[in-house]
Amino acid sequence: MFKAPRGTADILPQDQPYWRHIEAVAAAMCERFGYRRIDTPVFEEAGLFVRSVGESTDVVEKETYTFEDRSKDSMTLRPEGTAPVCRAYLEHGMHVLPQPVRLYSVHVPMFRYDRPQAGRQRQFHQINCEAIGVADAAVDAEVVELAWCFFEALGLKSLSLIINSIGDPKCRPGYLEKLRAYYAPLLERLCGDCKRRYETNVLRLLDCKKESCQPHVANAPKSVDSLCDECRAHWDSLRSYLESLGLPYAIDHRLVRGLDYYTRTVFEVTPPEEGAQSTLGGGGRYDGLIEQLGGPPTPSVGFACGVERIILNLKRQGIEVPPLPPVTAVVAFMGEAAKAPAVKLASDLRRQGVEAVLAPAGKSLKAQLRYATALGASKVLILGDDEVRAGTVAVKDMATGEQKTVAVEEAHVSLRPPLR
Ligand code: AMP
Repeated sequence: MFKAPRGTADILPQDQPYWRHIEAVAAAMCERFGYRRIDTPVFEEAGLFVRSVGESTDVVEKETYTFEDRSKDSMTLRPEGTAPVCRAYLEHGMHVLPQPVRLYSVHVPMFRYDRPQAGRQRQFHQINCEAIGVADAAVDAEVVELAWCFFEALGLKSLSLIINSIGDPKCRPGYLEKLRAYYAPLLERLCGDCKRRYETNVLRLLDCKKESCQPHVANAPKSVDSLCDECRAHWDSLRSYLESLGLPYAIDHRLVRGLDYYTRTVFEVTPPEEGAQSTLGGGGRYDGLIEQLGGPPTPSVGFACGVERIILNLKRQGIEVPPLPPVTAVVAFMGEAAKAPAVKLASDLRRQGVEAVLAPAGKSLKAQLRYATALGASKVLILGDDEVRAGTVAVKDMATGEQKTVAVEEAHVSLRPPLR
């Protein structure tokens, strides 16, 4: 028997209320902040992610699903959402629009060849938002606020908001030098990943989760102490905006994020449970990314969060979501002569805006009623020979058990009002 591939999951009907609710809350919140929806393809040219996310990042180094298509072009299943949106921004000439261009996506499948565990999958889904085209720290604050308001609207409690600034191409090289100088005498004592990253991406030593590396991380030089004047001014304004918005942030010097394109602001939202797999979402500024993709200098800031992790936390915190509406009516029938009229009645009800389904054929009335109960139907409409002859139908209320007979063309009146 086939199974879903490792690290992927079916989203079954009973899980759909979470997905629909999260998607609806996300879309409403993004639109309240003036963001407009964009959907990009599931796969892109492989070079897009190498150029943007960075060759020495975990994502590109070992996690992408990259394949040659039948024309021998190298394609990658999207591992993150920002680069594709920036590609679309450039391709569709959105730089001529008034800036910033605010874009969001919901329910976006992402693919990373990761070691699957709770909260970490190979196909997962994100909600993303991007504000492209301005450098103003007020927009960084807006994106942080949008993320925070979204989690708040879902009812999630006890979340933490951490922020940091990792500088820009002007001041970061100096900081990386300091970091290298600090780590050089410690190299022998670092874990294997850190030793490797010391050569390829020294910033990532700060987000090592290994216990043995923690004392070194704690004493490492802080990026905010090496900011140039412009980055410092940006960092100071960001914090003052967040304070005036009442957002309860904490500064975390270890926060650097896993993708190479970030500049200045980085932030994450985490739930109360500690652990590497717990981050609900994060983002930051990526001022150089669009230029790296061949566009004009276009400062931008964005945020992404994982839907599976949100669901995990909603369940952990016992937060209920609105259920899907149950089927209103099941049309049951007795005898072959009633079948065609039952098929027609179910169809007529649906055209009148009622959620109606036909009971399975060849079953006793009792079995058909059981089927209606399983679907949560509020009414069962029963057609037998007598009703067909008389042009009527028996309407059974499943809550009270009461039954009444009405003219078949009036059947919909006894159900809840049509949807439209
Ligand atoms: P990133 O793009 O790595 O910054 O991730 C942003 C968010 O996406 C994370 O905070 C998680 O909520 C979610 N996420 C990232 N990777 C995975 C994964 N492998 N499985 C499930 N969710 C993920």
